[in-house]
Amino acid sequence: MYSFKYQKPVSISDAQACLAKGSESKLLAGGQSLTAAMKLRLSSPKELIDLSAIAELSGIKIGNGEVTIGAMTRHADVASSASLRTHIPGLANLAGGIADRMVRSMGTLGGSLANNDPAADYPAATLGLGASIVTNERQIKADDFFLGMFETALRTNEIITSVIFPVPTRSAYAKFKHPASRYATVGVFVAEFNGVVRVAVTGAALVVFRVTELEKVLSQRFSSESIAAIKVDESALNSDLNADAAYRSHLITRMAMQAVDSLQA
Ligand SMILES: Cc1cc2nc3c(=O)[nH]c(=O)nc-3n(C[C@H](O)[C@H](O)[C@H](O)COP(=O)(O)OP(=O)(O)OC[C@H]3O[C@@H](n4cnc5c(N)ncnc54)[C@H](O)[C@@H]3O)c2cc1C
Repeated sequence: MYSFKYQKPVSISDAQACLAKGSESKLLAGGQSLTAAMKLRLSSPKELIDLSAIAELSGIKIGNGEVTIGAMTRHADVASSASLRTHIPGLANLAGGIADRMVRSMGTLGGSLANNDPAADYPAATLGLGASIVTNERQIKADDFFLGMFETALRTNEIITSVIFPVPTRSAYAKFKHPASRYATVGVFVAEFNGVVRVAVTGAALVVFRVTELEKVLSQRFSSESIAAIKVDESALNSDLNADAAYRSHLITRMAMQAVDSLQA
């Protein structure tokens, strides 16, 4: 490790002030991606601003047809929230399938979205549910947030404070996971809002994306048979050691069918 300054603000305004004063600062959430990047020298911030003492950034609130989850809420807390399980079980299940216990007890919703790993799970739920990302400056719709691989609409020094998820009629996530890391080789989140279906895919391309063809067919007939013959264009899909583009295209349809079937039982 190399030396860097460490700050631990206790409010969002304190964190903002730290960011404004410092240069080459980085926010630290659970450190699950950032500290690994620092060890590898892929990131060398001069200052870390640890968000873990800011109580207002954690917690799950439910009301008015929405669930608001604080940016510093750990995956384990999302997975074990009884009220979330009642309102958006698909999201709680997704959180419970991230990585392993150690990562789930440290990793955060805000860190995952800001990092925007192309194989991360939360981007699929955030886009699939049509959530809004709330920052210290504004609200950003999920459809406008995920710009590219590890790239988001966040501005320099912008802090994600929470995410607002509309409560769907039903939703589910199915993931074909990498056996070691449990990142998504392909993950598909399906959400239905009074007959209108959204489908978001992670792991398959450089950035999470929606599949309008699946959405259209599922909005007309919510059954796995209705989408079995749909083949997502593989030209923009990833090929790597784990799966080539054709296999990922196949997995998108299969995972979408699995998610739909899990909601029919
Ligand atoms: C072994 C391993 C396996 C994993 N498997 C999976 C998996 O199966 N599925 C999955 O989805 N993920 C997986 N992850 C990722 C993990 O779930 C974390 O969500 C992710 O690493 C982000 O970690 P963090 O929340 O600790 O953020 P950090 O690492 O602390 O921060 C990540 C980035 O986000 C920025 N940031 C953090 N919080 C905010 C904020 N509030 N506002 C603005 N910017 C912010 C930081 O500055 C940094 O750039 C895995 C990670 C590991 C180490």
